[in-house]
Amino acid sequence: MSPTQSELADLGKQHLYGNYRQPPIVFARGEGCRLWDSAGKSYLDLFAGIAVSTLGHAHPALVAAVSEQAGRLLHISNYYYNEPNVHLAQRLCRATGMDRAFFCNSGTEANEALLKLARRHFFAQGKKDQCRIIAFEKSFHGRTMGALAATGQPGYRDGFGPLPGVTHVPYGDVNAVEAALGQDVAGILVEPVQGEGGVMPAPEGFLRALRALADQRQILLLADEVQTGVGRTGKFLGCMHDDVVPDAVALAKALGGGVPIGAMLCRSHLAAALPPGSHGSTFGGNPLASAAANAVLDTLDKEQLTAKAAKNGAYLANRLADLAERHSPIVIGSRGRGLLQALVLKDGIDPREMLGRLRERGVLLTAAGGCALRFSPPLVVTQAELDEGLDVVDEVLGALDS
Ligand SMILES: *Cc1c(COP(=O)(O)O)cnc(C)c1O
Repeated sequence: MSPTQSELADLGKQHLYGNYRQPPIVFARGEGCRLWDSAGKSYLDLFAGIAVSTLGHAHPALVAAVSEQAGRLLHISNYYYNEPNVHLAQRLCRATGMDRAFFCNSGTEANEALLKLARRHFFAQGKKDQCRIIAFEKSFHGRTMGALAATGQPGYRDGFGPLPGVTHVPYGDVNAVEAALGQDVAGILVEPVQGEGGVMPAPEGFLRALRALADQRQILLLADEVQTGVGRTGKFLGCMHDDVVPDAVALAKALGGGVPIGAMLCRSHLAAALPPGSHGSTFGGNPLASAAANAVLDTLDKEQLTAKAAKNGAYLANRLADLAERHSPIVIGSRGRGLLQALVLKDGIDPREMLGRLRERGVLLTAAGGCALRFSPPLVVTQAELDEGLDVVDEVLGALDS
């Protein structure tokens, strides 16, 4: 007899490392924006596994691509080229205006590649001391030591120091960036919308000002598009809303639609900064992950999902603004871009407590930044599905009001 959901959850509690805080729910399958747990209860997925499940669950195009590739060739290593990977590199360069792609397996690794790229670029010019990075308070760039050094939140950093090499300044504050610059700065690392920090879009003109500063000082503008990239904000990259072209970009989350893959893309002046032997990955860009990413990009085109993210994102933003108004003062506002949106709750209301009530009613969301109830649904989400979820959010907020 197969174990029950609570038996499985107990096994998880006993044997998995306790660095997460999972509720006793074990997911078994999904289809589109629906998920089912192993007790058969269904849920509406409006978080997409943290902005990952671009095509929802079990999308036929992704299932077919992964199955077909698994039966053909899973892995070869970067000692050789592989077909899906070469195609993917070309497509990503085309979609982003970049010239080169390096593949890895996660967002953290993509950012790690950005940081190493920046250092090595100046090292190759004999400027080995030009290695400091400017990043932002409340940023999230990942959990390895380099990416963590760039992450601007004490909760992720505490206990892992020293984490040198990065200066953090307030997000949106161009003067603070300028004041932090110096001969030793290699680049500025920025999220076009701070995701984990609480879904904070860059203020109007901020990214353009960073681009101008970077040009003026001949340093690099590095964009962490791990959460914003691949159509989520209504354009392929979040930076495109401001017509800003960074020197290099990190992608991951949505790129594989659930199959792990990350990418560092850069422009031609950085193409030789990481020469053979200086950086690499055993799994990076393997045929399976590349085939998955190609299927995501195919479907993005075919179903016009980026335009749909813009349209449904505007719809979601409107409904959230309305909810914010009706549930004031518990909700103090709403913000976001495209299908990355949030309700901002007043101090003292922990969005994580709301998540449990929503889950009981069959709606899955996440919290961000300690104050934001985050919406990052699959890009295939329909307005009817958004309405269904928002009605439940409305109810749950109503119960808090009284
Ligand atoms: C999730 C995230 C990362 C880390 O990605 P992982 O795949 O978890 O390593 C980095 N930067 C941003 C902006 C993210 O949202």
